[in-house]
Amino acid sequence: MDESLPIFLFTEMQTTCPYCGRRTNFEEYEELGLIYQVHHCKNEKCGFTFIEMED
Ligand SMILES: [Zn+2]
Repeated sequence: MDESLPIFLFTEMQTTCPYCGRRTNFEEYEELGLIYQVHHCKNEKCGFTFIEMED
């Protein structure tokens, strides 16, 4: 996992970019039994990348 990326917890709502509110593309990974997703904002002018994971 890239520890330099900001980490958010999963929510029940559709994940959107915390900056611009657009939807994201994501890939899901599992590491040491921990599931997390790396999200990329679909807004090209924003491009925010962040990790979403379980509590
Ligand atoms: Zn964004």
